[in-house]
Amino acid sequence: MRVCRTITEARAELAPLRSGTIGLVPTMGALHEGHLSLLRAARAENETVVMSLFVNPAQFGEEIDLAGYPRDDGHDFALAEEVGVDLVFAPTAEEMYPRGFQTWVDVTELGSILEGRFRPGHFRGVATIVLKLFTVTRPDRAYFGQKDAQQAQVIRQLIRDLALEIELRVLPTVRDSDGLALSSRNALLAPDERERALALPRALATRDAEAARAELAASNGLIVDYVEVADFDPPVLAGAVRVGSTRLIDNVPLEGDSP
Ligand code: AMP
Repeated sequence: MRVCRTITEARAELAPLRSGTIGLVPTMGALHEGHLSLLRAARAENETVVMSLFVNPAQFGEEIDLAGYPRDDGHDFALAEEVGVDLVFAPTAEEMYPRGFQTWVDVTELGSILEGRFRPGHFRGVATIVLKLFTVTRPDRAYFGQKDAQQAQVIRQLIRDLALEIELRVLPTVRDSDGLALSSRNALLAPDERERALALPRALATRDAEAARAELAASNGLIVDYVEVADFDPPVLAGAVRVGSTRLIDNVPLEGDSP
């Protein structure tokens, strides 16, 4: 497995591999089974698997959230190697946002509802970095998690609007045995916070916005940002809560049988 820190290096490594398909799995690291499910799918479906590892400053609102984001590159590289990743693209912030950077991709409507309302600029950061990762690695397929349903929908729109020749693959949310959706941010929860966080999947499992709001209102010490049905593909009941200083999002698809 190769680790590339620069765009030039990554392009040079990928150039001879373009006769076969390339699958890209964008991540911010602190890998867990959710990430690994995307990597395994990419491994099964492509000749070459690229994982990007980049904690994108442009999609974080607060400096403190960015600084506190869990990082463990060494462990991530070992896990990536284990599941058969061919190339890790792990650039610095300066590499992705060189001095004078001023070109942004804004998925205007989709990017301003739900998460976008509570995290202004978040999806602009996401869409911009994902398009840049696409232009650097030029994948045939790109893998995202249903866990971040709105992000997947934003990328779907980006691909359609800009006529990108990339197949979007969205894979089901991986959960712990207690129902909590795996998230790198779960590592930031104290044991009692984690216990309280379980109210979110419990509420969403009702598949009914009113019932979910009632369930959350009855649970201790959670601040609810929103619980809403979103007309995505597939439609979802999505929610965001804050538990202490950690913000968690989750959703359940309202059609089909994916979890
Ligand atoms: P992140 O590192 O949090 O940016 O996530 C990288 C990718 O993994 C995104 O496409 C996420 O939607 C996906 N992902 C994160 N958590 C899960 C999960 N529990 N199940 C499935 N995919 C996930």
